[in-house]
Amino acid sequence: MKKNILLIHTGGTISMSEDNSGAVKPGAKNPLTEEGQILSGLANLIVEEPFHLPSPHITLRDMMTLKQMLDHYAEKNWIDGAVITHGTDTLEETAYFLDLTVKANFPIVVTGAMRSSNEIGSDGLYNLISAIRVASSEDARNKGVLVVLNDEIHTAENVTKTHTSNVSTFQSPQFGPIGIVTKQGILFHHMPSYHENYAISDITKKVVIVKAHAGMDSSLLLAVQDLKVHGVVIEALGQGNMPPATVPGIKALIANNIPVVIVSRAFNGIVQDIYAYEGGGKQLKEAGVIFSNGLNGQKARIKLLIALEVTNDMKEIEEMFRN
Ligand code: ASP
Repeated sequence: MKKNILLIHTGGTISMSEDNSGAVKPGAKNPLTEEGQILSGLANLIVEEPFHLPSPHITLRDMMTLKQMLDHYAEKNWIDGAVITHGTDTLEETAYFLDLTVKANFPIVVTGAMRSSNEIGSDGLYNLISAIRVASSEDARNKGVLVVLNDEIHTAENVTKTHTSNVSTFQSPQFGPIGIVTKQGILFHHMPSYHENYAISDITKKVVIVKAHAGMDSSLLLAVQDLKVHGVVIEALGQGNMPPATVPGIKALIANNIPVVIVSRAFNGIVQDIYAYEGGGKQLKEAGVIFSNGLNGQKARIKLLIALEVTNDMKEIEEMFRN
């Protein structure tokens, strides 16, 4: 029996076309809405199009709109699954935001495309079909928000865009996908071990990301403090170390009750307080820096924004980043 699937279009390359000059842009009509015949063979679709944006235009407000839309459908008990089409540039941020904030007992799948609708080898319709198939699968329940592109199923928590243009851009460094899409079925080979969820009604705080580099000093961190931010994520070096001249800036932020979350600028692995030299992880931890458990910078920012809606207690925020 066909499932009832909510299909939310938000924009992105998946909904754009290439013109004669090779420029890719949105048109008056989303080409995906013309694929009704193929798609309705897969599921009973309820289509929503709350906005039509390239994903660099997506804001936290737009993410909240999607959350509220999903909450609404979850309350009504009308649907068996949801698919969101989204630009790939910030897809992982929206997917992780929804993963942390939406409580639904149906699968939620986010997809996109690297090639627009009329390009040779366009992956949009194919990825959308795969996403609808995954959202219709009973096995996709209770795994958090999923990201489906290029025949792979990833968790929102681990997936990231790794290539500017390749269709296999979405990867889960360190962990890999949790399932695959084949012609015959949807196969999951891993089960996420933990899933967290936070009840929030708004996003009101400001969190910035600062990237560490060799020879860095405290000037940028002190300037950030003057911007009246509520939290800072630092993409630190290696296992979570910083150049010694940044330590006064980090300490100043913490002294002003601004949580500082450390992730690594390295692509794989997690940060740990291992090194005991000046600026090393041990000193940072003692100074009150929060070590994140494997998230990348943009996901840690989303999590810190949500954490700050739940509490302003540093210890509780640190606890949230242990998971
Ligand atoms: N720049 C586009 C966007 O994120 C890329 C894409 O959709 O793949 O909207």
